Amino acid sequence: MADAVLDPMALDAGARCTADVRCLKCNLLIFSSGIGTLHVATAAELETSFPAASASATAAGAQPTPQRYWELTDKYQFDNVTVSRAAHASAETPAGQRPRRYLACADCEADVIGYVREAAASAAAAQPVDGPNAPGGETYYVATDRVRYTASKRAITPA
Ligand SMILES: [Zn+2]
Repeated sequence: MADAVLDPMALDAGARCTADVRCLKCNLLIFSSGIGTLHVATAAELETSFPAASASATAAGAQPTPQRYWELTDKYQFDNVTVSRAAHASAETPAGQRPRRYLACADCEADVIGYVREAAASAAAAQPVDGPNAPGGETYYVATDRVRYTASKRAITPA
């Protein structure tokens, strides 16, 4: 289902999200316009199984294996989000990564909308962790087809 406000399929990797991003089910604001940048998953990233979308999200266009994500580099860039505990057995976790944790709407938690990528264990061990923006910190990926888009109600401050 094409979205009139923003069509992530028409954007190039690295493009900035120019709409507010909301929960498909309850419309809660997940993050605001101007925050995320488009990440197109590599084949290796797609090998990890992704939790199935709900019937309502599938009806709205959610794919079984999301390929396009909004990339956020700090949890404080989100307005509302819930991070699950590790949901994967370690055997399913790609080499060098900790078990994957998932993102969901902080209000209804109807669907998994994305995941958290931790720094590789070796890199984390080599560098001291000092705050959310420290080298080797976490990256957040929100699937572009598991959220809805609305026009921003606030002015976007120039980068
Ligand atoms: Zn919700």
